Amino acid sequence: MALFAGVEATTRFENTRNFALDLDRKDVLASYRQKYYIPQGKKREEQLYFTGNSLGLQPRSVEAHLKQELEDWKNLGVEGHFHGKHPWFYYHHFFNEKAASIVGANPSEVVIMNNLTVNLHLLLVSFYRPNSSRFKIIMEAGAFPSDMYVIESQVRHHGFDPMDAIIEVKPREGEHHLRTEDIIDKIEAQGDELALLFFSGVQYYTGQVFDIEALTKAAHDVGALAGFDLAHAAGNIEMRLHDWNVDFAAWCTYKYLNSGPGGVSGVFVHDKHGQDPTVPRFAGWWGHKEDDRFQMNKGFIPEPGAAGWQLSNAPVMTMAVHKAALELFDEVGMKKLASKGEMLNAYLEFVVLDAANSNDKLEFEVITPENRSCQLSLLTNENGKELFDYLTENDVIADWREPNVIRLAPVPMYNSFLDIFELGELLCRF
Ligand SMILES: *Cc1c(COP(=O)(O)O)cnc(C)c1O
Repeated sequence: MALFAGVEATTRFENTRNFALDLDRKDVLASYRQKYYIPQGKKREEQLYFTGNSLGLQPRSVEAHLKQELEDWKNLGVEGHFHGKHPWFYYHHFFNEKAASIVGANPSEVVIMNNLTVNLHLLLVSFYRPNSSRFKIIMEAGAFPSDMYVIESQVRHHGFDPMDAIIEVKPREGEHHLRTEDIIDKIEAQGDELALLFFSGVQYYTGQVFDIEALTKAAHDVGALAGFDLAHAAGNIEMRLHDWNVDFAAWCTYKYLNSGPGGVSGVFVHDKHGQDPTVPRFAGWWGHKEDDRFQMNKGFIPEPGAAGWQLSNAPVMTMAVHKAALELFDEVGMKKLASKGEMLNAYLEFVVLDAANSNDKLEFEVITPENRSCQLSLLTNENGKELFDYLTENDVIADWREPNVIRLAPVPMYNSFLDIFELGELLCRF
């Protein structure tokens, strides 16, 4: 692994401070930690922050980006739309290249707008148009609740019963993750009744990375479309949505992408649909052909590409935050991030299991499968909540999911190998 000169992926890890410090010294991304605010702990100078999968930390550059827009508004008023430093009229254009490289798309295939759940509904308006023979949707059992509600309400909206229309794929007895072959079997079993495969890219609870390419192909083979919620995938794993022929996707930007609470969402619409103005959609003036948007004419003509799904003018303040955050991703690139993320997660698993070996009080099972990203989910037993509270007391910011899972996300942008070693020390003392 070039990123860690001299440290092969097969390196035998050691659960020692020196070993962790040595990995940090070899980490070419180590300096990026300084570009973020790491919250202060109660007992330590900096928290051990392992919840970048829930709310990413604030890039130090955000404030200047926000200030620029506040200044332009202050000094230019409405003229900021065309004469600001980053003219608001074109604001979504500033994201095309950078957002496209996060998900592996053509710049025309992405747009930044709204929030995630809103965007899922908008995309389903276009890409879930069931009829009496083809109306089923396959999704993962235990999907994120918002996704379940979106799909149920869309199905009902079209007059179908969720019990008939929604097919959930569950792990096999005694397993915690889904096997690709089982998902594909389900797809084939629904055959020409399947309208849509709708999955997450990374499962929020277990951290499983799904084979987006294989699932998309299987859905297409039975004549269905394939759409993905990339909330936990964007900024975390490398993707090639265009080449994989994914029909549509959406993601939020406040998790791995560090763009602030309630931050804007990203949307992908494959050019095969995006360049087709006849694809039905809910329309608004910001999706109208840009060069005559201000003619205020009757008759919606969509802007080509994902931009043609926009409804409203850009929420510049939250988008300014995303702009700052994306610049850092652009500097580093998903390849290096994903590769450090893999190493961090491998070290985390090693340290956590090593701690469990030395402390009888620690009992848990790692339910994150091999096919993973920057997340480790620990299925705990009766003392799980006590363990979680102990960690919180000691400034470890992890995440508790009912009934008994602790999620830890070591994020390559700002987490260090030392963070992981120090978490391990605390686990040993539980
Ligand atoms: C975080 C997350 C959401 C959140 O939706 P918002 O509309 O941004 O509140 C939705 N779906 C998944 C899979 C998520 O992980």
